[in-house]
Parts: sequence; structure tokens; C-alpha cells
Amino acid sequence: MDSRSAAHVLTRIAALIEISGGNRYKARAYEGAAQALRAIDTDDLAPLVRSGEVAELPGIGPATLSVIRELVETGESSYLERLNAEVPEGLLELLRVPTLGAAKIQQLHEALDIRSLDDLETAARDGRLATVKGFGPRGVDKVLKGIERLRASGSSRLLPAALIEGARVLASVRSHPDVRRAELAGSVRRHVEVVRDIDIVTGCDTQPDRVAALFASAPGVRRSTSKGGGRVLISYVDGTCLDLQCVADRDFVVALWRATGSEGHVAQALAHAGGRLRLQEDSLLGADGRAIEVADEPALYAMLGLAYVPPELREGTVEVDAAARGELPRLVTTDDIRGVLHCHSTYSDGKATVAEMGAAARARGWRYIGISDHSQAAFYAGGLKGDEVLAQHEEIDRLNDSFTDFRILKGIEADILADGRLDYDEDVLDRFDYVIGSVHSRFAMGEAQMTERILTALDDPRLTILAHPTGRLLLNREPYAIDMAAVIDKAAETGVALELNCDPHRLDIDWRYLHGAKEKGVTIEIGPDAHSVRGLDWVALGVGMARKGWIEAGDVLNARELDDVLEFARRRRSGRVPATRVRP
Ligand SMILES: [Zn+2]
Ligand SMILES: [Zn+2]
Repeated sequence: MDSRSAAHVLTRIAALIEISGGNRYKARAYEGAAQALRAIDTDDLAPLVRSGEVAELPGIGPATLSVIRELVETGESSYLERLNAEVPEGLLELLRVPTLGAAKIQQLHEALDIRSLDDLETAARDGRLATVKGFGPRGVDKVLKGIERLRASGSSRLLPAALIEGARVLASVRSHPDVRRAELAGSVRRHVEVVRDIDIVTGCDTQPDRVAALFASAPGVRRSTSKGGGRVLISYVDGTCLDLQCVADRDFVVALWRATGSEGHVAQALAHAGGRLRLQEDSLLGADGRAIEVADEPALYAMLGLAYVPPELREGTVEVDAAARGELPRLVTTDDIRGVLHCHSTYSDGKATVAEMGAAARARGWRYIGISDHSQAAFYAGGLKGDEVLAQHEEIDRLNDSFTDFRILKGIEADILADGRLDYDEDVLDRFDYVIGSVHSRFAMGEAQMTERILTALDDPRLTILAHPTGRLLLNREPYAIDMAAVIDKAAETGVALELNCDPHRLDIDWRYLHGAKEKGVTIEIGPDAHSVRGLDWVALGVGMARKGWIEAGDVLNARELDDVLEFARRRRSGRVPATRVRP
């Protein structure tokens, strides 16, 4: 058991104690223990529990320690299970409303007897909620918006969570003796950033229907609905939703292609084949109406008269046309990445030191890492004051003396202030190898003002990269109001690179803008925004999103060699438009 999962369980326990009206100090003790575990950040707690190190941590007491022990030994907590069973499901659901913590839920339960999302919505609309201490009209408004967002997102989850769940379910499906092969399909295979369910297609030796029925009644299944023809929708007790399709093995390739979608892509691809081919259930029929054997997806595309379309591109936009003309892009891969530029260290709110981040980047085979801590305006994130910048640069110089094949760059994530100026004076900004600009405050500006703010920043020659351009937090915060077309035009004109932030909650710039930005010649930086060593690995997620946006290695700033990255920043600083689109 890793420390983050264990911390998650302890937080959940704290919330449930509080919601059920239990002892507040006890709840706080669990929250404190969760914090202590978060601070140690390890993949395997077991050795630290055994050695007694965990017991020594401030914030860990006998009760919380015994929960941690049980988690390490069994992977579960009987205390959490008991609480889960005791607290009504409606109250648990309320915990998912953004801005509504356990204490407030308990308060509402006491004051208005609110037991469910519906109760809460009624109370918000009929004016009762506004009478509760601490709410008022603005609070009510926030709650209603939160409910709306929750309803809209339903069982949605972020791609990394779906990938983990998908891998787990896939392994169990593959282990069935009648299953010859199985693959993830649907939006997970297309690498969509938020997915509703996990699609799996299975090729079976015998009786696909029977295999489907078996999974529908497996342990851990809360509900299942048979759709006939070997297809079953399963929801598990942990909230995972599975759309399982079992077919005869000879239909596997076509079924997988169809279930991968998107619907628009499949329809366009078939339309391209004219009347020569059509689908009947999961068989591909020729003009004579006979089923055609398909060996694999590349063969399928060849039959359709198309170049092979990678799953990430199958969104039904213009990929079928491009495939017909043989003009699909050579998509960027993780092997193309030469280094990373958006990373934090212990100088601001990162968990690892500059040296640790450098060593980790080097170990990943990269040639450089840029440390871009927060600037002074981001005081809540430990933003760097002028003298701290100097100290960090001295340390970086010292570390660089020990490398011949690797370099740590001096970057900064400077706040874009409300008027579009970059945090720090010019003489401080000039000390960095490159400057990332970010909006971290005043998100609620109107569109005209926010756009003006960012365009002003893009006009500053010291700005190299615009980070997380829309400020969205997936399933949590809408992008701020901004005219992205104007931002993209300006980036093309000035030569500022736009970031594709790899944090799974951000994945911002939205991949839907990328193809257009690339056409205009905008350079893209794929930034992990790593706040720990582990955060560096989000690069792979970002590369997947870049692929969805038709991005090639030549479009990516950090797919360039070190000298070219430095030259990019220098040219920009001298007011010239840096070279965009380096063709490999
Ligand atoms: Zn940021
Ligand atoms: Zn950052």
C-alpha cells in the first residue's frame, strides 16, 4: 500500500466521522494522520510501518496507526467499511459536491434534515438553505452550481484513474479460460481526458453470451444490465462502470474497431469505402454480402482505402479525409521528448529538491530539466523573493558543474498580474534562461479583460511560454472566460510557446485547440508541472493529449535539443519571432 492511498482512506474516515455527527476531535486526528502520510510520499508503506517510523510521525496515534497497519496487511480498513455501511448513501453523495465539506454537511443535516442531493437542491431553491449560518445568497449559488456540475459529470473520471481501473478489469477478463484476447476500447483507448465508463472488447472461444453473464454476476458487481448479443453494462461497488462486449473471436477486430469509435469516425470511414463494405453487427460484409475475415486494424483500414488512423485521432473531425489523402501526421511520442521545462522544487511548493529533480530527469533519459518555481506574487505557494532566486541560481550553477551530459535550466513560473504585467522587475526576469507566465489569481474577470490581460503578457518579449492557458480544472473548475482564438493568433505572431500542461486535472491547453494552433505555426511545450519526482511521469499523459491534437515532434519545444531551446528563448527575448516548426 502506498502512502497516498492510505492517506485517502484516513481522510475518508475523518469525513465520515464528522458527517455522522461523531467526535470532531477524533475526525481531526484522522485528518492529521492523513497529512502525516502525505508528507512522506512513498510507494510502499510496509517497511516504514514495520520499522516503527510511521508510529513516530507526528500526528499518528494508536487508533490511526492500527488502521494503517490493517491497510498495509490487508489493503482494506474494516473501520472504513463499518462507517460506510452506517452513513446513509445520500449523505455520502453530498461529499462529492464541491465546496461542501463534511462539517457543513453535518450542519445541514442537523439544521434542515438534509439527507440527499435532492434534499439539498430543494432547500437551496426554496430559500431554506440561505437561512443557515454561513451560507447566504452567494453560498447558495455556489451549492447550486456544484450540484449542477456533479450531475453533469455523473460517474465521469479522469483518464489516469480510468486507465488504472481499466488495466485491473482487463487483467481479470483476460484470465478467464474462454477468453482468447481482450482490449480496452472506447474513449479510454482514444485517450480522452475525461471518461464515463470503461469499454472492453473480448474475443471468446465459445458462447460469448455465457462469458458476459459470468462477469455480470462476479463478486464486487453492484448492478448489471444485459444488452443482448454478449454485451453487458456492469457497475461495480467501487463506482467503476464497465461496458463489456464479448464476441466470437473471428469478430474481434471489427468489434474492437467499432467499440473504439468514435461513432463519427466509424461512420465516415465506412462512407469512404462507398458501397464496397458495410457493417452488420460486428461483421464486415463485402459487396456480395459475405463476411470478410479481418486480421488486424491496419488491414481493416487498408480495406477501407485508408491509411491506418491511430486511436487518438479517431474523433470524426478531419482524420478520415487526411487518411484518404495519405496526409496523417507522424504523431509525437514520448521518445521524442528531450527534456522538461515546467517543474517545481522545494524552493516553492515542490516536494523534491533541485538536485533530486535533476537526478530524476536525468534518470529518465532526458538531457535537461528546467526548474520553474513560483514567483513572489504566489505567496500561498511559497513564491520566490529576489534573493531566493539568486540563491537558487547559485545552487543550479554548482549542480551543473558536475554534469557533462545534462543541464538544469533556470526557469520561473511568473504570475501574470491582473494588468498583464509579469511578476518581478526586468532585471530579475533577465536572469532566467526562460520565463513561463501563468494566471493564478483573479479568475473571475470578464472575457474581454482576461483576454487583454493575457495578450498584454504575450507582448512582453521576456515571456517564453504561456502555461495552462485556460485555467481549467477538469471535473472541478471551468476554464476562465477567454478568447482562445485571439490568444492562439497572438502566440503565432509573437512566437510565445503555448503549454500543454500534463497535470491530469489540467491537460490545458485543451487538445481540441491544438490542431488549429499547429496549423498557425504555434510551438507547443509539453509541461509536466511536476511538484514531485513522480510528477515528471505525467509527461506521457501530456504526449497522449498532444497526439490527439495532431502534434508532431517538430511542433514541440521540449522535443528540441538543449541549445535550440535556449536559442528559442533568446530570440524571443530579442523581440524576434523564434523559429517555429523544426522539422526533424
Ligand atoms: Zn501554474
Ligand atoms: Zn506550475
